[in-house]
Amino acid sequence: MKDIIIIGGGIIGCAVARELCRYQAKVTLLERRSDVSQGTTKANSGIVHAGFDAKPNTLKAKFNLLGNAMFDELAKKLDFPFKRNGALVLCFDKDELGGLKDLYDRGISNGVEGLELLDGEKARELEPNISDKVVGALYAKTSGIVSPYEMCIAYAENAAVNGCQFLFKKEVCSISKDKDKWKVRASDGSSYTADVVINCAGVHADDINNMVCKEKIEIVARKGEYMLYDKSCTNLAKRTIFQMPSKMGKGVLVAPTTHGNIITGPTASDVEDKEGLYTTYDGLGEVYSKSLVSVPCLNKRLVITQFSGLRAHSVSGDFIIGESSQKGFYNVAGIESPGLTSAPAIGVHVATEVANILSLDKKDGFVETRKGIPHFATMSDEERAELIKNNPLYGKIICKCEVVTEGEIVDAINRPVGAKDVDGVKLRTRAGMGKCQSGFCMERVMDILARERGIAFDEVEKCDGGKIVFGKAKGRK
Ligand SMILES: Cc1cc2nc3c(=O)[nH]c(=O)nc-3n(C[C@H](O)[C@H](O)[C@H](O)COP(=O)(O)OP(=O)(O)OC[C@H]3O[C@@H](n4cnc5c(N)ncnc54)[C@H](O)[C@@H]3O)c2cc1C
Repeated sequence: MKDIIIIGGGIIGCAVARELCRYQAKVTLLERRSDVSQGTTKANSGIVHAGFDAKPNTLKAKFNLLGNAMFDELAKKLDFPFKRNGALVLCFDKDELGGLKDLYDRGISNGVEGLELLDGEKARELEPNISDKVVGALYAKTSGIVSPYEMCIAYAENAAVNGCQFLFKKEVCSISKDKDKWKVRASDGSSYTADVVINCAGVHADDINNMVCKEKIEIVARKGEYMLYDKSCTNLAKRTIFQMPSKMGKGVLVAPTTHGNIITGPTASDVEDKEGLYTTYDGLGEVYSKSLVSVPCLNKRLVITQFSGLRAHSVSGDFIIGESSQKGFYNVAGIESPGLTSAPAIGVHVATEVANILSLDKKDGFVETRKGIPHFATMSDEERAELIKNNPLYGKIICKCEVVTEGEIVDAINRPVGAKDVDGVKLRTRAGMGKCQSGFCMERVMDILARERGIAFDEVEKCDGGKIVFGKAKGRK
């Protein structure tokens, strides 16, 4: 049996893992953090891009289009939140309408369907809260929104059910070749052998490539800061509202999320620190002032949290996908936007190529579907009653803001690639994602984690070894 090692448990590593599990091979994913979706995949706009922005004849354009088309079926099969809500690119200046037409033409040449140029009035009919100053818009009906971390977790769970081994807290620190096999070492002293190594390490993919290949690559971390609004703002935008893109990216957007919040951002600034996820006064100020240009009635008092993500910008300008000059070492690097959109297509492409490299046969019994955690908050009363009848833990609300039950949290902890810490529960169930940002429910989530995992309360972590309680908590073992 051939051994394949995937480095990185973001959306790309997990999509590749799931698709490789269709073949007869031993697939192992090494992730340096304590969970999947802890890098760029958990902090982005969550837009399934239509594909009008990518430069024609690039890998970005190719995989954007292919990936976008796969979402309806994939979201059903893997049961993650996705909606094809459409997008508008707003133009505020008559002199820039030519630029909007260029974007339309680029979309057509990329093969995007359903594009339309609108005047300002028609755009306001679709989105009544956009500015009076809008003189025209590009309408892209095939654009969508997805919950990026839930999509990544769905991929990981399905890969695990199909045989992929997930190993966490494994930071790859060296890779060498021993005869025909790769030897991959992690910083905890463990080592692994593989016939093929696949580099899906996000902003660190250059470090991994440069351990192995003479042809060096450079990945620049390009930070994007965001503000997230309370669900009371949900009706401010139905579609994703972009401004005209610039050299640095797609600009500041205002968009609904799949769970009914409004997201605004991101900024775009190159940073030295590839771990620096702090937000800044200036960055958030920029997000707010630019988002007001599109939707003037946004009120920053309704912001419930802010965060940032790091784009893995390749200085080559395009995705780097393929076997390197070193046989059996495969790069999936520089996967900045539209990387989330492209992930389903990249996953299939990489798995097919690696299967060819290793002459792998398909295996029988691949499980195509995965069922997500029941989402109590969106159920009818009848559905809720049925769920509680079968499992009374669904009758106990733990997170009041997001209406998350104990049943959902226990399920999140005990399923394949389950939640091990507070952030793991949050990403899988939304406990702590609401208005109070876990002020009320964190302690109760910690109690459940301690009980289900058989650990002490003060051993429960936020994420990645980050302790929450120091010393013995009063009244607790
Ligand atoms: C601000 C912003 C907005 C974006 N908006 C969109 C959007 O709307 N639509 C869209 O399609 N795309 C968007 N993207 C791009 C998209 O988020 C990324 O393309 C995608 O998440 C990349 O996934 P990944 O798996 O390559 O990287 P990551 O999610 O970063 O995963 C890489 C993983 O590798 C691990 N790793 C790193 N080094 C090592 C090591 N040495 N050993 C073991 N593990 C290691 C990391 O811990 C991490 O978990 C956006 C990105 C940003 C930053």
